[in-house]
Amino acid sequence: MTTTITSEKKQPKQGMLDNVMRQFNNAADIIELNKNIRKILEVTNSEFIVHFPVRMDNGEVEIFTGYRVQHNNALGPYKGGLRYHPTVDIDAARALAMWMTWKTSLAGLPYGGAKGGIQLDPTKYSQDELQRITRRFTYALGDNIGPELDIPAPDVNTNAQTMAWILDTYMSTKSPNERSKNLHVVTGKPIGAGGSEGRDRATGYGVYLTIKFWAESKNTDLKGKKFIVQGFGNVGYWAAYFLEREGAVLTAVQDAYGSIHNDQGISTENLMAYTKANKGSILGFAGASPMDNGDFFSLDCDICIPAALGNQITVKNAHTIKAGLIAEGANGPTDVQAEEILLQRGVDIIPDILCNSGGVIGSYFEWLQNRNGEIWTLEEVLDKLEKKMRESYFKVAQKAKSKKVDMRTAAFIIAIERLEETYVQRGIFP
Ligand code: GLU
Repeated sequence: MTTTITSEKKQPKQGMLDNVMRQFNNAADIIELNKNIRKILEVTNSEFIVHFPVRMDNGEVEIFTGYRVQHNNALGPYKGGLRYHPTVDIDAARALAMWMTWKTSLAGLPYGGAKGGIQLDPTKYSQDELQRITRRFTYALGDNIGPELDIPAPDVNTNAQTMAWILDTYMSTKSPNERSKNLHVVTGKPIGAGGSEGRDRATGYGVYLTIKFWAESKNTDLKGKKFIVQGFGNVGYWAAYFLEREGAVLTAVQDAYGSIHNDQGISTENLMAYTKANKGSILGFAGASPMDNGDFFSLDCDICIPAALGNQITVKNAHTIKAGLIAEGANGPTDVQAEEILLQRGVDIIPDILCNSGGVIGSYFEWLQNRNGEIWTLEEVLDKLEKKMRESYFKVAQKAKSKKVDMRTAAFIIAIERLEETYVQRGIFP
């Protein structure tokens, strides 16, 4: 069964949707956004909720619920990840889709914003089951995704393998003559299946770059700076990897299983090797001591990188944060009230739509290569990524200065102004 809801108006509820709406309204108020354009951007264009059956390894059938929300496509095809997590629901998908619209607009990409996923705990399923779930989800979405319509990518608990299954399923439903034209229906694919060099590290590299630019503008050095990372997935790991290469010291990590710390430094390579051999968990790593989850954000450090889920930094812990910089690897990790407290306390925040935009920029490079039949080297990809991220970062810093606002508000203003210009020029059909 497939339910399609189009342009349904919905009041924001508590949580990520409330957060992104407040961030949007704050920036829209400052620039006195045209009220008709505000109405358009406040709602999502299309929302798909699909329920589909999958046969489990034990022969039983389980019904899953998947989501894909397409927020806005004024600037180009919808773009954004698919996450597999128990917290995935329609409001989470709406919020995350909106953030994608601002992120792609800010980055100057020819994309709109979308997000989706399946409400499940992937640790409870075998690889074979996850493959069948992914393929059946792709089939249920049908032609509501497509290389020039809506292009999914990895997000929380999905990866290159997930994208390969989506690609293969999507292509298999097309006529032989059409198949090869569809390689860019998803990005973040394995290299052998049409993926791009560097896409694996693009988000984490981008997080690191924004921290480097921040240090540059503060006339400070990353050498010896202590940093903590929440989430040791693709984003957290690569951000830590590049920071460590620059001489910064990883002193604590938190993942879904618990938290560990070592003031002398945790080796990112050793920790990654350990988690791979330990079903993805950091717990029990010999190079650090376990600690209470509740004390994680209040650890003494210079840089804090939330790179897991939304709403992690709230009024409950904002007062205790010691870091002078929060670099948002995750989407929506800091809620609006916590941000007010942090800004008052003089803590800098590199906002998610800037900080983690390396991922979608890397996706754009993959999409371009697929579309044009090109293959770029790792060096080319990382060079182009650095150029784009530098441009975005200093544009935001400049806007923050000229408008006397924080970095998030500045980033939202740039993103919204680009959309406003498009709507003003194109008008509203009919
Ligand atoms: N899931 C990532 C994000 O939140 C990447 C999206 C993409 O590459 O389309 O930005």
